Amino acid sequence: MIPPSYCFYYFIHSGGLLSLKIRCENFIRSIADLIRKAEIELPDDVVNALRKAESIEENQVAKSQLQAILKNIEIAKNHAVPMCQDTGIMIFFAELGTEFQPGFDLEAAVRDAVVLATREIPLRPNAVDPLNRNNSGNNTGSGIPDIHWKLVPGKQLKITVSPKGAGSENMSALRMFNPTEAGSIKNFVLETVINAGGMPCPPLTLGIGIGGSFDKAARLAKEALLEPLDAPMNELEQEVLEAVNALGIGCMGLGGSTTALAVHIKTAHCHTASLPVAINIQCWANRHASIVFGEEE
Ligand code: SF4
Repeated sequence: MIPPSYCFYYFIHSGGLLSLKIRCENFIRSIADLIRKAEIELPDDVVNALRKAESIEENQVAKSQLQAILKNIEIAKNHAVPMCQDTGIMIFFAELGTEFQPGFDLEAAVRDAVVLATREIPLRPNAVDPLNRNNSGNNTGSGIPDIHWKLVPGKQLKITVSPKGAGSENMSALRMFNPTEAGSIKNFVLETVINAGGMPCPPLTLGIGIGGSFDKAARLAKEALLEPLDAPMNELEQEVLEAVNALGIGCMGLGGSTTALAVHIKTAHCHTASLPVAINIQCWANRHASIVFGEEE
């Protein structure tokens, strides 16, 4: 059953806009299904990268760990269950077309979808008050789910959900560098990965945000995690990936040749006196899924 929502309230008190109610309920259903898809099935590019890592791994302990991860992925998909006990908190990226007109409160509907998905799938209730640690019980709360809105031209709405577990998020880092220290960025990445060790469940994907501001760099780093793992890497990304894999931390921190599957960097212009750098670490469970609403363009 669709949970009570703003749009339902609006329907009841507006004299019966049935199509609007149905549209809103369908939207909530679709987003809850999107969350389910992200939780039980990794994108093909991520699975392929893990398969490739397993095929080239010579360290037998790391190889068996990669085989266990691949088996885990298969079981989750076949039995329609979350691939990890930490089902994360829900991060959404929404590209909202300026001509897309939902007619209902999108944020409230996304929130209702998280409540529905938490109950149905089910998801571990992870969202707590940061200070008193009281758990809302449904993965929502103040500022959660986290929805990043971007206005784009057109009549469509694209929503991507990226459930983020704590193990990898906790080992992420941000530093405000001196503007002359661009040459130190690679060492900052290595230092962060060494400090993380096996805690964030490698093999990792590293999203790196360079420039912007304190908060923009962190957002760029998180967006970089959504890049396909088979997308071509530029010279700096390749150099950082090779240096990270030369550390020998390996799958689950047990050694081996693949500590990271990919490195993706996003940049933005920044103040002449600043050089913010953020590293968002993602574990092997690089979960995300997207859906597009609205008219074809
Ligand atoms: S770091 Fe990733 S794989 Fe490890 S427990 Fe957290 S969500 Fe699961």
